[in-house]
Amino acid sequence: MNDQEIILEFSKRERTVTIIFAIAFGIVGLYIVVNYLTTIYFNPAFPFLISCGLMIYGTYKYYRCPNCNHVPKALGQAGVQMSPESCGDCGKKLR
Ligand SMILES: [Zn+2]
Repeated sequence: MNDQEIILEFSKRERTVTIIFAIAFGIVGLYIVVNYLTTIYFNPAFPFLISCGLMIYGTYKYYRCPNCNHVPKALGQAGVQMSPESCGDCGKKLR
C-alpha cells in the first residue's frame, strides 16, 4: 500500500467512525425526543450506555492506521488521538 492509498483508506475509515458517532448521538437525541414528546419512560442509562459502547466499539474497530493497524494514540498519553496528522506507531502520514 503506498502513501496515497494509506491516506485514502484512512479517510474512508474516519468517515465510517463519523457515521457510527452520528448514530450514537442519534440514539441519545431520539431518547430525548421520545422522552419529551411521549409519556413513555425509559431509563436514561440505557441510551447513554448503548451510545458510549457504540462509540468505543467503532473507534477501536475502525479507527486504525491502515499501515500498521494500530489505533492512533495521542503522543505520550493513553487514549485515542482524533484527526491525527500521522501514525504515532509507524510514522506514516494519514492525511
Ligand atoms: Zn501506523
